[in-house]
Amino acid sequence: MSGASETSTRVCDHEGCEEKGLYRAPKAPDVLDDYFWFCKEHIREYNLKWNFFDGTTEAEINAQQSKDKVWERTTKDFRDPEARAWARLGIEDPHQVLGDNATRNPGRNAGGSGRRLPPTERRAIEILEAKETWNKKEIRKAYKALIKVLHPDMNGGDRSQEEQLNEVMWAWEQVKDSRSFPDG
Ligand SMILES: [Zn+2]
Repeated sequence: MSGASETSTRVCDHEGCEEKGLYRAPKAPDVLDDYFWFCKEHIREYNLKWNFFDGTTEAEINAQQSKDKVWERTTKDFRDPEARAWARLGIEDPHQVLGDNATRNPGRNAGGSGRRLPPTERRAIEILEAKETWNKKEIRKAYKALIKVLHPDMNGGDRSQEEQLNEVMWAWEQVKDSRSFPDG
């Protein structure tokens, strides 16, 4: 077994993908010695999903430890979720792996129709129940409406939707600083 990922003949584990599986990722947060192998695009997708929508996230553990500071902390922790996700795999700078495909894609064709958003932005738009063609002002409106329903300070103290609130906050962070959406 050579172990050199560059010479791997594995195919990406993403269903239907024919690319080479060059990047490995643990199958679950608590199964760190069993791996999936993905192509560049799919390890990125998997990585983001794992961090935010699967298993026990760091944020949830922290939330247990300090329930009262949830709002303050999540705002901080979710500032650069992609960097955090990559850090788990020992990669400090996603740009080294992804080059121009990393999240901070300049999006030169912002606002054009038929464009294809990076996966992170697409996911953010889904979470915010918005449309890819909306400008930031419109998306912000959708974000505000969701926060109103989900935030314990605004919904009478109901914390049951905290996880969804975290997703919504993460999603707005992606849109807010993205050049894929016009300011409006
Ligand atoms: Zn793939």
